Amino acid sequence: MQNLYSAVIDFFKNAPRPVVVHEPHFSENEKKYVLDCIETGWVSSVGSYVDRFERDLSLYTDAYAIPVVNGTAALHLALILAGVKSGDEVLVSDLTFVATANAVHYCHAIPHFVEVDKETFAVDPEKLDQYLMTLKNHPKFLIVTHIFGNPAHIKTLSEVCDKYGIVLIEDAAESLGSYVDGKHTGTFGKVSALSFNGNKIITTGGGGAVLTTDKDMADRAKHLSTTAKVADPYSHRHDMVGYNYRMPNINAALGCAQLEKLPEFLEYKKQLAVCYKELFKPFDEVEFVKSSQRTISNYWLNNILTSSESARNNFIDRLAEEKIFCRGLWSPMSSLPMYKNCPKMDTQVAYDLCARTVSLPSSAMLRQYVKTE
Ligand SMILES: *Cc1c(COP(=O)(O)O)cnc(C)c1O
Repeated sequence: MQNLYSAVIDFFKNAPRPVVVHEPHFSENEKKYVLDCIETGWVSSVGSYVDRFERDLSLYTDAYAIPVVNGTAALHLALILAGVKSGDEVLVSDLTFVATANAVHYCHAIPHFVEVDKETFAVDPEKLDQYLMTLKNHPKFLIVTHIFGNPAHIKTLSEVCDKYGIVLIEDAAESLGSYVDGKHTGTFGKVSALSFNGNKIITTGGGGAVLTTDKDMADRAKHLSTTAKVADPYSHRHDMVGYNYRMPNINAALGCAQLEKLPEFLEYKKQLAVCYKELFKPFDEVEFVKSSQRTISNYWLNNILTSSESARNNFIDRLAEEKIFCRGLWSPMSSLPMYKNCPKMDTQVAYDLCARTVSLPSSAMLRQYVKTE
């Protein structure tokens, strides 16, 4: 029988090197729309593509979507809009990208780290509930990150939030195209964030969006992201401290073309996940991380769990020799120097998953090169 490494190397036999974790894919319309911005001069924060991207995203997610400069800025605005104020504590998963915790810090608030479950890698609803029961003064906000596009247990988490009067915010940066019960991720909380960074399922170069089903909140998001400028034909006037976070038209031009391709990317990614599942089936030393049967994942990144931290490192090193580049997961937020003194519950599952997870090459276009039989 083949060993694990030879099977993985064989799997990528026909893929051009280097094979990376995630790369964007562009075709004709990206060039056409960006060129149109350059030729007409509409490259900055006003233009037809940014309006179209806003509409297209809104139709796709069935929510109001306000395009901004990146996912981190979207998170920052989402927290402000949710009502996070200086000194507030915000429950944040210990396993997330650093931007989630940073956005809390930008509001002069304090992240309070919580445990994840092994199935979704996202906040564990039961453990959160048990933990909240032990707190006299619990935080009034929770941000849930949908990890790798695999939806969190968002409905149960929403019930826990209702029980304690907690405002739910979603970090849906990785989950464009992921649904729970027919609803797009990022539409369960009061307000959420998407990202279109270069490594996400679609990209605008840099970009993000605030997502909300609340019209008033959407209007405030747009106002805050456009320097709080008041419509006035004669003078420049701003009625509060706003932010220069509006997505430029040239980035939105890329986004419009990428959204056209999203259904195809989703299909390729789903097929790639099926191929990976088959690939790892014979090998007991690794466990392929499956997405839940009850939700629809966008299959943004495929992952395996190795048996230990050193097994993870060996796996990454061994494949890097073949120019197949995998990647470990983030370090837990509570292990980072700037957040190590923040309040937290026991997060040993998060620490264990962080040490053993390997993210596999998952670009949509990889599907056409990998072995299927
Ligand atoms: C990518 C990402 C972000 C931040 O998005 P940027 O557009 O890079 O600022 C936030 N949270 C998570 C979970 C992400 O993966």
